[in-house]
Amino acid sequence: MTEAKLISSLNEENLSYLSKTYVPSRLLLGPGPSNAHPDVLKALSLNPIGHLDEAYITLMSEVQKLLRYTWQCNNRLTLPMSGTGSAAMEASIANFVEQGERVLVAKNGYFGERLVDMATRYKADVSVIDKKWGESFSFEEIKYEIETQKPAIFAIVHAETSTGVLQPLDGIGEICRKNNCLFLVDAVTSLGALELLIDKWEIDIAYSCSQKGLSCPPGLSPFTISKRAEDKLSSRKSKVPNWYLDLSLLNKYWGSDRVYHHTAPVNMNFAIREGLRLIAIEGLENIWERHNKNAIKLWRGLENIGLELHVSKDVRLPTLTTVKIPPSVDGDSFRNHLLNNFAIEIGNGLGDLSGKVWRIGLMGFNSTEENVDRLLNLFDTELKKFSIIDSSTF
Ligand SMILES: *Cc1c(COP(=O)(O)O)cnc(C)c1O
Repeated sequence: MTEAKLISSLNEENLSYLSKTYVPSRLLLGPGPSNAHPDVLKALSLNPIGHLDEAYITLMSEVQKLLRYTWQCNNRLTLPMSGTGSAAMEASIANFVEQGERVLVAKNGYFGERLVDMATRYKADVSVIDKKWGESFSFEEIKYEIETQKPAIFAIVHAETSTGVLQPLDGIGEICRKNNCLFLVDAVTSLGALELLIDKWEIDIAYSCSQKGLSCPPGLSPFTISKRAEDKLSSRKSKVPNWYLDLSLLNKYWGSDRVYHHTAPVNMNFAIREGLRLIAIEGLENIWERHNKNAIKLWRGLENIGLELHVSKDVRLPTLTTVKIPPSVDGDSFRNHLLNNFAIEIGNGLGDLSGKVWRIGLMGFNSTEENVDRLLNLFDTELKKFSIIDSSTF
């Protein structure tokens, strides 16, 4: 045998490449990902089976049933898309927008901006209503814009992870129906954590992710559409301009035909089944209450330390809290201190809020009293050390 000449980037000085994969343990209290539940990790580590195996097909149906419960809907087309939340966000645009159609986006943060970007790339006639980062939209202004602009789709973010705002959605679905418009909701940071009623609120298209409220690693994104949205999809004049995210093709695999489209990330589906099973056992109402209760405890604690919250109480998001960084503190140094010395991650501000706030997430498995106490203790004892001017200011 001739000696093969292989390219090797592994040199002798750096043999750490060849040690088994090691990852430090962290408590993830940022904007996501959140920690996965130990039972979810066990499911994830099972050996893969074929994506057309009877046992796997059964598991798919169970995942769909559990998703319908978690979404609170009876939508036939309910499935986990392969990919993170942004893949499902893109699917919600790619499948339902035809060139030149009007898409109205309510934008009050980073993820609303991403929806605008995607709708523009798919050649929609994009129209935007804007709010400051940290404010929500009133029902009246949304109603007015839908009635006057007559969009084909109205898109809004339920839980803006960039700002910490929870957008009330009640009543919007009815306005959309009356105006022949599809109601699209980003529920990435609300599914499995906060009250979300797809059927009751008449939401036509909704997507989420696995790594926030569902206590799973990133990699899948729950997706659901109403009958109205299905009708719109089947009456498209042009093909869906994205092969991987084409719901009419995906439906042939997740529907009764079971036709191969792409190899399902089977282990992630084991994991999401487990995450959804834990949600069903705890019960949605208990879960919503747990998230609210722990968030209120966090808010009170932070205010008691003398910190200010960025969002007013009536629209404050329980899964993600934005805290103002005191002017005397270097926000990044404090964040790094928590990570490097206490193995706790919190988030920095995005976009307009960069350098102005920290973002604290309490999502899924991580929303516990113990985690809130642990973090509040650290804010209490450690923040003093980071005051550039005078530690007596907070
Ligand atoms: C995290 C997030 C997304 C994007 O999801 P990825 O899983 O990061 O792709 C979209 N919308 C909101 C509101 C989010 O918080």
